[in-house]
Amino acid sequence: MGCPIAPACGTVGGVAYDVLFEPVPIGPVVTRNRFFQVPHCNGMGYRDPSAEAAMRGVKAEGGWAVVCTEETEIGPSSDLTPSIELRLWDDRDVPAVARIADRIHEHGALAGIELVHNGMHAANLTSRIPPMGPSALPVVGSNHPVQARAMTLADIALLREMHRAAVRRALSAGYDLIYVYAAHGYGMLEHFLSPQHNHRLDEYGGSLRNRARLLREVLADTRELCAGKAAVACRLGVGGGAEETALSAAETREVVHELRDLPDLWDFVVGPWSADSNTSRFGPEGEQEEAVRGLKSLTSKPVVGVGRFTSPDAMVRQIRSGVLDFIGAARPSIADPFLPWKIRDGRLDEIRECIGCNICVSGDHTQSPIRCTQNPSMGEEWRRGWHPERLRPRGSDATVLVVGAGPAGLEAAMSLGRRGYQVTLIERSRVLGGRVRREAALPGLAAWTRVADYREAVLGKLDTVELYYESELTADDVLEHGFSHVAVATGARWRADGVGRQHPCGLAIDPAAEVLTPDDVMAGARPRGRHVVVYDDDHYYIGAVLAELLAREGFAVELVTPAASVSEWTANTMELTKIRRRVIEAGIIVHTNRSVVSVAGVVRTACVFTGSERDHAADSVVLVTARTPIDDLSHQLLARQSAWTHLRSVRAIGDAFAPSTIAAAVWAGREYAETLDAVAEPFRREITELAP
Ligand code: ADP
Ligand code: SF4
Repeated sequence: MGCPIAPACGTVGGVAYDVLFEPVPIGPVVTRNRFFQVPHCNGMGYRDPSAEAAMRGVKAEGGWAVVCTEETEIGPSSDLTPSIELRLWDDRDVPAVARIADRIHEHGALAGIELVHNGMHAANLTSRIPPMGPSALPVVGSNHPVQARAMTLADIALLREMHRAAVRRALSAGYDLIYVYAAHGYGMLEHFLSPQHNHRLDEYGGSLRNRARLLREVLADTRELCAGKAAVACRLGVGGGAEETALSAAETREVVHELRDLPDLWDFVVGPWSADSNTSRFGPEGEQEEAVRGLKSLTSKPVVGVGRFTSPDAMVRQIRSGVLDFIGAARPSIADPFLPWKIRDGRLDEIRECIGCNICVSGDHTQSPIRCTQNPSMGEEWRRGWHPERLRPRGSDATVLVVGAGPAGLEAAMSLGRRGYQVTLIERSRVLGGRVRREAALPGLAAWTRVADYREAVLGKLDTVELYYESELTADDVLEHGFSHVAVATGARWRADGVGRQHPCGLAIDPAAEVLTPDDVMAGARPRGRHVVVYDDDHYYIGAVLAELLAREGFAVELVTPAASVSEWTANTMELTKIRRRVIEAGIIVHTNRSVVSVAGVVRTACVFTGSERDHAADSVVLVTARTPIDDLSHQLLARQSAWTHLRSVRAIGDAFAPSTIAAAVWAGREYAETLDAVAEPFRREITELAP
């Protein structure tokens, strides 16, 4: 069947993608295609509703047929502080939530809202209401020293009323699809389903039928209120092996069979959020298929599921083989809000494919607005007026030299070229991508190369950008060439002196000792002996990845970190436990809460609490501590300002300015291009209105 909304949809390279653009009914509403942005957190929520509204609106503009909110707390007893989600606690919350639906509708998509009572996942740190759940147990998902109380039958009746009130508010806010949420281990309804959390002896506990009673009742309540005005979705955590999942695969089938036609749509979620949003380091595209396959046959209602889908062929296969009716996406829609229309228009090489790094998730976990490695405009649509596909036309005839083609330089050159500036991009090596090419060669990080691939593909189509490989310019060369602006994006190098958080003045290192940096190892250098200490005072991924690489190559590796966990910051990307498991499986000996204090014939470490020292026999040490910006060219040019004739500005950007994540480097490139001819303004923010 052809697509009535998008006549351009069809075939690319001989493969039919039309099936992705078929309209599909969900209860009383009909979608324009099969692209479904499932609910996802974004760290903006009730604090930044206009920013969120613009972000969701851009997804709708990019072709998603359904665009959903994140978890929306239905009352103050479901208070997820410090997380920033949406709230429908009372009528005063409706305008913010309605603004999001309005922006989605403006671009022809259906608006979905995920209503949630977080049950024993909500420690209620703001409201200070004692948490509640099916049974008296410690709160889940955090170590807050708080327990939930067991709900009475009267509490259950009140909970249903709270959910009904939220449904009425969501309908008044204009939503077309209302979610009932029982997934990720986060929602009250899943806590009732879970034999681990539901120890009740009444009609809401015991048998699966009893444990599913509250879910059935809330679905029925929601259906009654929606009555032809909106569709009802059920988001259910499905079994299949993940240890934290409440239900086994068999129990999942039983629940779906029992409730089969009560919702208008099933949204199946595999395991806890960390499994559902697995990173590319730990799982491939379409990983959820095995757990979801076959569930569709238990219901006559359409089914949505996710899988970090970016390949249209994989999407078509999911539909044609009857696994899914909708291609669900959170991360692929974050990395490329225009994914649907790019597939429709056959612009597959312009898809900004998600790299599966979960920097987006870190926004939620750090209570800061969402960011994305691939899409620097994510979260900046309203705050800074950035758009994933459109940039303002250039403001002058200025010419720009971009030095260095890592993520910062590539993004700057591409965005400036799109604006219409004449750009010269020079790169010292033979490849584009800088650190992403080097890091993508490390275990599990292959997908990261997409950061360079996408930009390389777009640059290839821009006649405004001239690209020179194996080129290096001195300050004299630059001054002679007559560029108007210079962006120095020459990156950073890892330090070999141990300077870092733990040792701001560096380490005592015997000059005879072999010290390697991550740059050395990525360039192919290897320890001279078998025993290696990797010292990780960086706390993101590089330390553990290098330890894994060396262990796989047969080195005896000890990983030392002053933090309490290996790769501690990856709690924010939900990789912490997976990294630890992989490190253990690789046979790496881990020493947490210890700091390297000296490197000589042996590596000496000290306990960060007591200072007690210990020696580790090691032939070499790999120091993963801090990086030094490579910014000589910008300093040289700035020092010779009196000799500038055409030159008007010189700026170091990305890691050459302040070493950070790849996401930050990409963002810096975009920020440079956006502000080249503009007065830098602070970003917009919403200020709390004071009570009279
Ligand atoms: P960022 O993350 O800020 O983009 P990277 O280290 O990934 O930084 O990329 C820097 C890029 O700049 C690398 O590809 C490197 O080869 C290149 N480079 C470094 N110094 C020079 C230079 N003087 N001239 C041209 N290219 C350079
Ligand atoms: Fe994908 Fe990483 Fe962007 Fe998240 S931050 S959407 S995982 S590329």
